[in-house]
Amino acid sequence: MSKTKKFLLTEKQMPTQWYNIIADMKNKPGVSISPRTKKPVTKDEMCMLFAEELVNQEMSTERYIDIPDQVQDLYKIWRSTPLVRAYELEKALDTPAKIYFKNESTSPAGSHKPNTAIPQAYYNYKQGIKCITTETGGGQWGSAISFASQFFDIDLKVFMVKVSYFQKPYRKLMMNAWGADVVPSPSTMTEAGRHALAKDPNCSGSLGLAISEAVELAVRNPETTKYTLGSVLNHVLLHQTIIGEEALMQMEMAGDMPDVVIGCFGGGSNFAGIGFPFLKKNLTEGTNIRVIAVEPSSCPKLTRGVFHYDYGDTEGLTPLMPMYTLGHNFQPADIHAGGLRYHGAGPIVSQLLKDGLIEAQAIPQLETFAAGMVFAKTEGIIPAPESTHAIAMAIREAKKAKEEGKSKTILFNLSGHGMIDMYAYEQYFAGNLQNYDLSDETIRQTVDELKTLIDL
Ligand SMILES: *Cc1c(COP(=O)(O)O)cnc(C)c1O
Repeated sequence: MSKTKKFLLTEKQMPTQWYNIIADMKNKPGVSISPRTKKPVTKDEMCMLFAEELVNQEMSTERYIDIPDQVQDLYKIWRSTPLVRAYELEKALDTPAKIYFKNESTSPAGSHKPNTAIPQAYYNYKQGIKCITTETGGGQWGSAISFASQFFDIDLKVFMVKVSYFQKPYRKLMMNAWGADVVPSPSTMTEAGRHALAKDPNCSGSLGLAISEAVELAVRNPETTKYTLGSVLNHVLLHQTIIGEEALMQMEMAGDMPDVVIGCFGGGSNFAGIGFPFLKKNLTEGTNIRVIAVEPSSCPKLTRGVFHYDYGDTEGLTPLMPMYTLGHNFQPADIHAGGLRYHGAGPIVSQLLKDGLIEAQAIPQLETFAAGMVFAKTEGIIPAPESTHAIAMAIREAKKAKEEGKSKTILFNLSGHGMIDMYAYEQYFAGNLQNYDLSDETIRQTVDELKTLIDL
C-alpha cells in the first residue's frame, strides 16, 4: 500500500477560531508604555493608529476568538494548507526521525502573511476605513496586504524602502497587480520624508523611516486612514494560529503528534502560528512538546539579546514594549533572509522564552542555505531564505535522532517559497555569501543604549 504523503482538511473541517495563548499564560506579557506619558498605552491611543477591533484583540484575554465568516471564506482561496510528510528528506538524511512540514508557501502571496493581512483588511473595512498605510522592506508584507485590501475596496499606500523599490521590482509589481499604490520611501508626501530628503536628496531610505511615513499619514487622517503591521503585535500572532490549529488536526489525521515544533523567527508571527496551538497542550494537558524558534546568528535577539523595554521601530516612534532585543539601533548584517533582520521579538514570545516555555537557537547563514538546497533537492520546493532557518533546525534535530538511535517526530513551518528570492540563491551559488561573527562588544553597544529608556 502506498503511504500518505499529504494531509489536507476539507472546507467543512477547517478551524473557525483563532487561539489566544494569553488566556493560558500564568505570567502575562508586560504592558506597552507610551514614550510620551510614560504610562501604559491606552486603547484610545492605539485606536488612533489601528482599527478598533484589532485593538480589542490586541488586549483580549479570551482563549478563542471567532474567525468572521467573510475571513473564513477568503482563507478558503488557499487554505487549508498541506501538512506534508517529508519522506524524501528523511531518506536523504537516513534518519529514524519522522519529519513533517506545514506548507504556508501555497498562499497567493507566497508566504504565511496573508493569514493576518485578510483579517486586518476586513476589520478596517467593517469600521468604514477607506485607506490603509503600511511599510515594507523586501516586500513580503506589502504584497500580502495588497492582496488582502483589494477584496474590501480599500486604497492601500505602501511605503517601500527606496533601495528595495529599485532592487526588488517583482514584489513591487505584485503589489501593483493587486491594486496598491507603492511609494519609494523617503517620499515628498510626508513631513518625515521631506525632512530626510532635505538632509540628503539621495537618501536610500530605511525601514524605520518608511514606518514614520506610514504612521504619519494615518495619524493625520484618523477618521479615514489606519496603519497596519505584519508581525510582532499580539493580534498578528493571534491570526497566524490558524496554521497550528490546522496542523493539530492534520497531525491527528496522520496518527502522529510532534515531539518538536520548529519555526523561523523574525518578529514571531509564523513561529507563534505553528507553535502556540501545540504549546497549549503543554500548558493545559501537561505534554512536553519542544517548541523551538530559529533566528539568524547575525541577528540573535532571542539567544544573545536582553529582556528590556525597547521601541518596536528604529526611529523610536512606537510604544515601548517589554521584549528580548538587541537594541533598536542594532544594525544586522546584510543577510538575505530580510524578514529575520529585526532587532526585537514580540512581547508574548519574549515572556514565553523568559519563562522557559519555548526554546531558541541561532543558525549561521551558510548552514541555512545548504539546508534549503537539500530541501529543494528532496521535497522539490525552493524555500524562502527565512524558511531555510526552520529547515536547518529540523535537519539538526533529525541528525541528532540518528546519532542517538531514537525516533522522534519533527514538525516545522515552511513560512514561504523563494521564487522571488532567486537573487539570494544566485549569490549563494557564486560563493558570495558568508557567515557573520558578531562580537559581544558589538551587541553591548546597542544594548547599553537601552539603559536610557524605562527599566522593567
Ligand atoms: C516575514 C517573513 C518571515 C518573518 O516574520 P515572522 O513574523 O517572524 O514570521 C518569515 N518567513 C517569511 C517567508 C516571511 O515572509
